[in-house]
Amino acid sequence: MELCTSCLTPLAANQILYTPQAKVICAGCANKVDIVDTDKRAAGNIVKNATGALAAGIGSVIVLLFISMIAGSLPALGAVAVSIVCGIIAIRGMAAGNERFTKHLTNAQGIYVWIATVVGWTFCLATLLMAMVRGFVIT
Ligand SMILES: [Zn+2]
Repeated sequence: MELCTSCLTPLAANQILYTPQAKVICAGCANKVDIVDTDKRAAGNIVKNATGALAAGIGSVIVLLFISMIAGSLPALGAVAVSIVCGIIAIRGMAAGNERFTKHLTNAQGIYVWIATVVGWTFCLATLLMAMVRGFVIT
């Protein structure tokens, strides 16, 4: 007879399941592992969206300065929109009530989400100001 390595319930041979690490586990605990995995993925997506907000914000400045000579301000404004949407998703993920997800983030990751989003949005602001100075020229 084997025991579930998580809750120590004795398991008959036909009740034995295995974790991805090949540990013996019962069906109830296997479901919990699935939920935790999903929550961890959701937490990972918060970080990815913060990175998206940062990357798109920086990208908007680069696009405005170097590519808009040909294409006008529109592509840069598109990058600003992407950055804002990603940042909103990231910050909403960090909001109270999402501890189920955020508890899977390290402190450093939590801080990163805020900094990446704020820095990304700061670049967006710079893009918008520069575009405004140029009069939103769309050629
Ligand atoms: Zn169990």
